[in-house]
Amino acid sequence: MDAKKARALTKNWGDKPCNHPSIDKEYDAGSSTGDYICTQCGQVIDKDEWKKEQEKNE
Ligand SMILES: [Zn+2]
Repeated sequence: MDAKKARALTKNWGDKPCNHPSIDKEYDAGSSTGDYICTQCGQVIDKDEWKKEQEKNE
């Protein structure tokens, strides 16, 4: 997901809680930033932490 799109998502999402159902690599000007972002709220996610959370919720 493009970093600009992620920021727009964050703005639209506001302060609502999010369980980060799915994440995507963040891209800036077409190249990966190495970060992952939630496709729902646009927040930057620690991929390892996110994975752990997903496993916990299974
Ligand atoms: Zn989220």
